Parts: sequence; C-alpha cells; structure tokens
Amino acid sequence: MSNLDPAPEAITLTPGVVRAVDVIEARKAAIGDGTEVRRLLPQRTLRTVGAWCFLDHYGPDEVSRGPGMQVPPHPHIGLQTASWLFQGLVLHRDSLGSRQLIRPGELNLMTAGGGIAHSEESAAGRPSVLHGLQLWIALPEPERHGEPRFTHHADLPVVHEGGASVTVAVGEYRGERSPAEVFSPLAGLEVAVPGGDDLVLPVREDFEYGVVAVDGSAVVAGALIAPGLLAHLPTGRSEIRLSPASGSRLARFFVVGGVPFGERLLMWWNFVARSGDEIARAREDWVAGRFGKVYGYPGDPLAAPPLPDVPLKPRLRVAGALTAARSAPRIFTDAGPARWLRGSWARDWRSRDDG
Ligand code: MN
Repeated sequence: MSNLDPAPEAITLTPGVVRAVDVIEARKAAIGDGTEVRRLLPQRTLRTVGAWCFLDHYGPDEVSRGPGMQVPPHPHIGLQTASWLFQGLVLHRDSLGSRQLIRPGELNLMTAGGGIAHSEESAAGRPSVLHGLQLWIALPEPERHGEPRFTHHADLPVVHEGGASVTVAVGEYRGERSPAEVFSPLAGLEVAVPGGDDLVLPVREDFEYGVVAVDGSAVVAGALIAPGLLAHLPTGRSEIRLSPASGSRLARFFVVGGVPFGERLLMWWNFVARSGDEIARAREDWVAGRFGKVYGYPGDPLAAPPLPDVPLKPRLRVAGALTAARSAPRIFTDAGPARWLRGSWARDWRSRDDG
C-alpha cells in the first residue's frame, strides 16, 4: 500500500486526539413540593465532571404564590452540597443548628462528611422569582468520613473583564481564589457575558468542564446549548469560548470543572458512598434518627425510600458512550442496574419522561 499522489502534501500531525464537545440532555425531575428541575448530572453517559457529581438547574419559577421550594429535612453522606442562586431567596437549616439565608451571588457549602441532615425552603419576604442550581461534590477518601460542617460565603471574588464578569464560587480564576473549602482540584464559576459579546475563558488543561447556559441559548466552544443541556468538555483544552446567542443584556453561564474523579462512587438517594453496605447503613441511620434533628422546618422530615431489590454496585466514570445517548435520549426508562440513578435528594423524585 502506497500513497500514489504524485505531489503529496505535508500534513502536520499534532499529538493526542481532538475531542469534541458533548452535549448532554437533562432529565426532568421534581424535588420537594413540586419544584421541577433539569437534572444534568449524574447521567449514564457522564457520571461526574471532576468531583461534581450532581447538578440540578431549576427555574426561573414564579414563587410569590404557593409554598415555593420546600425540601424537608433529609440526610447526606460522603458529599458537599453547593447551593447557588441566580434569583430568589432560600433558607437553609441543618442538624448542626445552622440557619442561613442565601441570596444570588452567595454560596452555601455544606460538607456532609460522615453524616448531616438539612432542609431548604423558600423564605418569607422572598422575591417573586426563584432560579438556581443545586450541586453536589463527591468527597474523596479520607474526607468523606470527616466531621460535618456548614459555611456561607457572601463575599466571593469577582473578576471583571470588559463588560463580562466572573464570580469565583469555587476554586480559582485569574489568580482570584474562592474561600470555599473543597477537597479535590475544582472550579465553579458564574460567568456573565453581555449579549453580542464573546468571552474566552482561560481554563486548565488537566480539568474537564461542564457548562450550563443559564438564561437562554448560547454557543459554548462551538456547541449550541440552552437551559436543559450541558456542554461537557473533556480535558486538554486551554480555553472555552462562551458566546450568548440570545439578545439579552447579560447572559449568564455556570461553569463547573475539575480533575476527572477517579474513585468509584455509589450514589443512591442522598448518599454518595463506595458500597451497598454503606448505603444500607446510612439509610438505617436515617430511619433510626441518628443523623440529628433539623429544628424549625415547618413539616416532617423525608422518609427514606425502600432500597432497590437489586444489589447496588459502584460505578466508575463513563466516557465516550455519548452517541448512543444522543440517539436515544430516554435512556433512563429502563429499570435495571441503573435504578440507583433514580435516587435523588427528595422523596418526590420522578421523571416526567418516564410517564
Ligand atoms: Mn440536600
């Protein structure tokens, strides 16, 4: 076999492979008292982005009438919860006695370690619109067995670049570091870009990234996304171009990133663990009241759902299986080994796609 071209051209071969942006579709889910969310992580085809292992995007929802968001007391192990608002006001309570309002641009970071319980509710005097993200961060060994704690960060660094601004919720951006304590290399950035402008975000080549377009459609590293879609960018990039596609005055993005998380994870309900035994033990502890009490929430705690009748097995991160996901977006309708994915942080979880 030979190249028979009489005038062969030189082709520059760069090392490595060019890896495209994957666009991942959210599952619809409901939390607490009927707040509908777009669940972007975990997915069968993408378990985590760095240590970020759960990502719900909700709203904008009208909450001036009715209860708004009401997530009764429930337990967590093995993770940090990160709460982030674009609009609205939410009250956090936990079993350490914390009682903390959160507003847009602030971070509530709860480290479950070996175990904590908390509730979240739309607070009195709230604005009429609620819009935000609920994220979880998987804790590595040995931090996942540590003491629980809660921190509120109201004074996060903001980097201004032309008309754009980057709020550093987690990690670092252009030398500005968030005070939030995390336990693996991570980034969590809210990025606001004026409509009609582009922002090129310098990023770490050893991080993978996930990007949410918060307000409307946008082009992220060449891929068109909108609320309900997550752009996943594998490691190996030095920048991400963010281009709002809508004409809004300021288009917001949320960018999560981190070094791909290598530890096996088993997630069920509100627990991130490594084995089915750990999950079963945590569930028993919640049923027996051993997580501690959340005072002041106007309602009963969540009841633990029954354990599935199939063994719970840990999963490694899945990569490169996205073609199947695109052609069959309802991949969560099966009831087999993926059933653990149906667990969520609230009792009333259900997928509207599943009917
Ligand atoms: Mn929770």
